[in-house]
Amino acid sequence: MTSPPRPALLPDLVPAQRQARTAPGSARLADALAAVRAPDLVTELQQLLAVPSVTGTAAESELQHRMQGRLRGVGMDTDLWSIDLPATTAHPDFPGTEAPRDEAWGLVGSWGGDDGPTVVLNGHVDVVPPGETGWTTGPWSGEVRDGRVHGRGACDMKAGLACQLLAVRALREAGVRLRGRVVLQSVVGEEDGGLGTFATLQRGHRGDLAVICEPTGGRLVTASAGALTFRLVVPGRSVHASARLDGVDAVDKYLLVHAGLRALEARRNRDAHPLMAGYRLPYPLSVGTLRAGDWASSVPDLLVAEGRLGVALDEPVDHARAELEQAVAEVCAGDPWLRDHPVQVQWWGGQFAPGAVSQDAPVARLVSAAHAAVHGAPPAVHGVPYGSDQRLLTGLGGVPTVIYGPGDVRQAHAPDESVPVGELVSVTRTLVQLLVTTCGTLD
Ligand SMILES: [Zn+2]
Repeated sequence: MTSPPRPALLPDLVPAQRQARTAPGSARLADALAAVRAPDLVTELQQLLAVPSVTGTAAESELQHRMQGRLRGVGMDTDLWSIDLPATTAHPDFPGTEAPRDEAWGLVGSWGGDDGPTVVLNGHVDVVPPGETGWTTGPWSGEVRDGRVHGRGACDMKAGLACQLLAVRALREAGVRLRGRVVLQSVVGEEDGGLGTFATLQRGHRGDLAVICEPTGGRLVTASAGALTFRLVVPGRSVHASARLDGVDAVDKYLLVHAGLRALEARRNRDAHPLMAGYRLPYPLSVGTLRAGDWASSVPDLLVAEGRLGVALDEPVDHARAELEQAVAEVCAGDPWLRDHPVQVQWWGGQFAPGAVSQDAPVARLVSAAHAAVHGAPPAVHGVPYGSDQRLLTGLGGVPTVIYGPGDVRQAHAPDESVPVGELVSVTRTLVQLLVTTCGTLD
């Protein structure tokens, strides 16, 4: 199951004085890998799933407090703090938020020594609402069926948090003592922009490299596309529906805009980056909500559309915004009403820049080597079409970050979300291997 450590990967990771000086104790490493057990992972994940920690709700805060107990339970020192929301959201680099909040909590667990690299494991506790339909299990039940654990957040990304917690526990159980340090960042507000990771970086929690255990099916993700939330305000002119032609129907005007957005989406997805070659639509432009009118027998005088614009891997956020604004402006220029009453474009809510590290970056090579040591072959490397905290850790935090975790992102935000038990085990073992190889051990 294991192979020799890869110390040759370390020199360009951190200054020589901070490199791990010993090869990992192979007996203890083997013990730690054996201490990763499926039933424990399932139980841990079920406990996390039982808390309906929807973004911005009181349960999101509740889960952070419970997580402090779990971090202490695996032997980590913890820093739990109330995030100063006015100061944090007023920061010029703040990435945006959508859910209203009265409070938010930061939480970091830490364990190990100060004589080697610090590995950050980052995961978000918040989940999106389960929705009204389509579930055949209870969304907070954690039901195991056909070798998969079900529930809202099962793959996105409470499974990743369970893997991170139990990787640390397995090391402790096997008597491993790390030279370097593992830091587990349990964050809120990932789903609506990245409040938690932003606040964690502001508090000074950093490391030499980071792994976010969002769902990648055990593949290695070095790049994530961006996502920008936008709002379109389309004006019309109201009149009684029986005299429809005397008014201006905001829905009809929106349909013109929608066609323009679809054409823009097609243009933006030509010649996508090779890391995105596996996706039919690497950078979707999707409208998620439409609200129009206030009376069935009136021509609607206003339509408000909210959506999400995908940002290409190597594209500046300003460029993406300008393209959407230009596409809307061209539609308006071609319509007599909209020419005089143009559609307003507003940027609000989550503003995810793309994030990436080189495929040759030490963090990518270390995670790849750890996966190969456990599984016998290196993982596939690709990009993902969704925004993530990778861009905050790598960009703002200066912590080179990859994404590697259990589950399939196509299950995320969907009814009957689930994660295979086998992937919980395999990802946790990779994390054990990564921590030992990267941080070094004292035995
Ligand atoms: Zn997620």
